[in-house]
Amino acid sequence: MTGTEPVTARIDTSRPHPARVYDWFLGGKDNYPVDEELGRRIMSVDGTARHIARTNRWFMQRVTRWLAGEAGVRQYLDIGTGIPTEPNLHQIAQRIAPQSRVVYTDNDPIVLKHAEALLHSTPEGVTDYIQADVRDPGRILEQAREKLDFGRPVALSLIALTHFIGDEDDPYGLVARLVEALPPGSHLVLSQLTADFDPEAVGRGVEMYKAGGVTLAPRSRAEIARFFEGLRLVEPGLVQLTDWHPELAVGETTDENAVISLYGAVARKP
Ligand code: SAH
Repeated sequence: MTGTEPVTARIDTSRPHPARVYDWFLGGKDNYPVDEELGRRIMSVDGTARHIARTNRWFMQRVTRWLAGEAGVRQYLDIGTGIPTEPNLHQIAQRIAPQSRVVYTDNDPIVLKHAEALLHSTPEGVTDYIQADVRDPGRILEQAREKLDFGRPVALSLIALTHFIGDEDDPYGLVARLVEALPPGSHLVLSQLTADFDPEAVGRGVEMYKAGGVTLAPRSRAEIARFFEGLRLVEPGLVQLTDWHPELAVGETTDENAVISLYGAVARKP
């Protein structure tokens, strides 16, 4: 594990943090009153927000089942991991293929605080954690190379991450830089918030995060499709999360009232 300097002092409890608000939505305990307050405010205008957070988590789970099973992927680089929530990506991947190697990355010190939970690996596999910011892809790649073999396919997952990267930080350039480092046969997994289906509710959410000092950048389907330029989308393409291989679901519930304002896709690098 890298970036292991003491972190408790750096956890800012005076303003909400995406990882902690998301943890609150998921029913976790690794959040502070400011995070819960923002979560509750969002729930008061959109009562389905919690279900949508779970839906995103379920997308990660189905994708990982597909990658480890159908696609035979054995190496993963997951950026914007979030606070550990079982099952985590490595648990799903290593249950299917114990030799799977998984490197997690997040920039929030609270994730580092809980990173031990992300380091329990099968004896045959590897699970590691890098404390880094996706806006510094060079650093992530350099450290990931210590654990992953970039001569063999890697699945890069950016799940519910890019909507926290505003256009001023060049999210397309960052994703392209990461994908460029992957060998042919690698995959990109990405999910991201959109205002295509429910602009009012999403617009209110953006304002609430903004008031808390957090950038939230919803993007249209065409804008999200740009992240996959040069790659081949795996069936069924870029879809609302619930439409991505629903047959791979385990223990999911539905909420007919929930508008799923996230698109997601998996693509293969030719
Ligand atoms: N991928 C997980 C968590 C999504 S929440 C899942 O889908 O279940 C988004 C995560 O991205 C948070 O943990 C947040 O801390 C992290 N994040 C936000 N901006 C980031 C950045 N610039 N670099 C790295 N991680 C970031």
